[in-house]
Amino acid sequence: MPLLSDVITALDTLWPRERAEDWDAVGPVCGDPDAEVNGVLFAVDPVREIAEEAVALGVSLLVTHHPLYLRGTTTVAADTFKGRVVHTLISNGIALHVAHTNADRADPGVSDALAGALGLRVTGPLVPDPTDPAGRRGLGRLCVLDRPLSLGAFAALAAARLPGTAQGVRAAGDPDAPVRTVAVCGGSGDSLFAEVRAAGADAYLTADLRHHPASEAREHAPLALLDAAHWATEWPWCQQAAAQLDAVSERNGWGLATHVSHRVTDPWTAHQPSPSLRVSEGAPN
Ligand SMILES: [Zn+2]
Repeated sequence: MPLLSDVITALDTLWPRERAEDWDAVGPVCGDPDAEVNGVLFAVDPVREIAEEAVALGVSLLVTHHPLYLRGTTTVAADTFKGRVVHTLISNGIALHVAHTNADRADPGVSDALAGALGLRVTGPLVPDPTDPAGRRGLGRLCVLDRPLSLGAFAALAAARLPGTAQGVRAAGDPDAPVRTVAVCGGSGDSLFAEVRAAGADAYLTADLRHHPASEAREHAPLALLDAAHWATEWPWCQQAAAQLDAVSERNGWGLATHVSHRVTDPWTAHQPSPSLRVSEGAPN
């Protein structure tokens, strides 16, 4: 069995920590580097139910995309929900490791997994990493559909292919407009509209699109927008990451058991569509 330090070296090779954004908090959160690792659970969010799933599976390492602590803390007391996660993990001999914006920018990265889940062919990064001579790393991905679809059909395909959430997929644009090229960005992507427009994509699929950026993007250009649940756009990375670690484990003869959490940790749990797209009598304005 490998030591945690061996597995962390492998994770750092896949997603080098120095490629994370300055504001990010990636790498080990808790765990003894000299402890042996038998199995690994991959998940998007380091929340209570994921920590409990790791305990139930008996794994010794949890790898999440989102950081547990993004800013400094002065307590890991178990009367805070984050402290409770730390206690659950440490008292069960489980380490926690985070690969966040370093996994976003990697090759393959979070948006490659998203494109793969949607059956899209990636042609390159939306925002290339200037330090990558091969031009494959960076934020977001530009993709083509081998067979063009209408926006309505593409939205239906995205809703069917991404893991199920209460939100599903919202779309903005003419449902009959043809979609041939798509920009995708796993997670919150509303800072990349300028790059999406410059790339000339027919549609942009990301998460957490807010009113003003979405409205302005629609006014600027005939760009169709698709907004999926944040968790759903990043979950495909867990499968990709587990397969990458499986390959490392096989090369090294580690025999690691890898698992991907299927628990939906998107915070939204219900979605009630309006009965009609009109302002009804007496509605607030
Ligand atoms: Zn995210």
